[in-house]
Amino acid sequence: MVLNTTTLRVAFGLMALVLVVLFYFSSYRVTRSPYSGWWCIGLLFFLTGSACFLLNGTGHQVWANPLGNVLLVRGAVAVWAGARSLRARPPLKWPSVGFPAVTLIAAVPDNPATNTWAGGPVFLATMSICIGLASLELWRLEPGYSCMRIQMATAAGGVAVFYFFRFLAFIIEGRDGPIFVAVFGSAVTTLVTMVLLVVVSFSMAALSSEQQTRTLRVAASRDDLTGLFNRKAFMDLAAERLADHSITPDTGVVILADLDHFKAVNDTYGHAAGDHALRRFAEACTATVRPTDLVGRYGGEEFVLLLPGSSVERAQRLVEEISRRLAASPVKGGMGMPTVSYGITPYENGTDVGGLVIAADEAMYKAKALGRNRAAHSDRTP
Ligand code: GH3
Ligand code: MG
Ligand code: MG
Repeated sequence: MVLNTTTLRVAFGLMALVLVVLFYFSSYRVTRSPYSGWWCIGLLFFLTGSACFLLNGTGHQVWANPLGNVLLVRGAVAVWAGARSLRARPPLKWPSVGFPAVTLIAAVPDNPATNTWAGGPVFLATMSICIGLASLELWRLEPGYSCMRIQMATAAGGVAVFYFFRFLAFIIEGRDGPIFVAVFGSAVTTLVTMVLLVVVSFSMAALSSEQQTRTLRVAASRDDLTGLFNRKAFMDLAAERLADHSITPDTGVVILADLDHFKAVNDTYGHAAGDHALRRFAEACTATVRPTDLVGRYGGEEFVLLLPGSSVERAQRLVEEISRRLAASPVKGGMGMPTVSYGITPYENGTDVGGLVIAADEAMYKAKALGRNRAAHSDRTP
């Protein structure tokens, strides 16, 4: 059976167009997930790139052929950017310019007016590299994503390897070699890409909605102003840690922190200055604690910390360091940073976190009664 490349390209273009429309309305408009956005962009590049090749053999080939290569490579870079977004990594700027530019530079001096494979080896190599990089990103996705990620990584890896063998066949045999034409030529590639696009779009839709769910989950667990865990997320995570004997040390410390005379900060310098102080305090906390500690905004100007494995003495040194950092933070409009009172309570695993916060709160009120700007301990023993 002889496959007619032009017919296949028209079919490919139509299919990519339908996929873009379907994908845009059914996935991107609903989830707004960056991954599905990148996939729509990628499909548009593939669609326009392959449409350019329809001008091969006409007077327009001289610009349309190199442009087609550039657009396909740009599409592959978009697929890579989409895969990066699943790992919350921003797109890199240089590949979106660098890879297409290299492809163009290779095609221009290679007689694109008559040579439909102008810059062919560089085009095939860049496609293989970009799709291979997308596959690597997908392999590195944390296992929390469903098994769709394996299918996607395998599909992308397969395309990358296919392009690599096309590149090898082109280098070894040239554009008219029997293996290159029969196995790696344009007709076969268009057919293979068509099938893969459908499979990949299907898995993409699933991964995109997973990405949206994750983003919503993170947003729901964070306090808008400070970026710390909100009360519910902190309490849930702390309860998990206290119940888990396998990874967390058996004892630790809970701290409740309350900014002193904070109402006066708002009244004197305004609400925005108060917000500024809350943010600086949150930063002072996160800069001081260890990665295994938990910090949350308990509400208003109250914060809560869980320090697994810490002693009361270490907690005392830690809160002094937090207050020192807060006092040294940049100030706005002549305001002075508020001081902070802390209540510290030790715990042993298995304790109810709600009870610990109450104990830390009582200790914090002791610190207030003793004159503020200090830490007090609860009488609990771990
Ligand atoms: P004390 O030393 O006894 O803790 O006195 P205080 O003024 O800090 O305590 P009080 O409970 O009287 O006031 C807390 C203030 O915190 C009142 C409220 O307006 C302010 N506040 C709560 N949440 C926010 C916020 O998100 N931004 C700002 N700017 N202020 C907030
Ligand atoms: Mg308070
Ligand atoms: Mg207060």
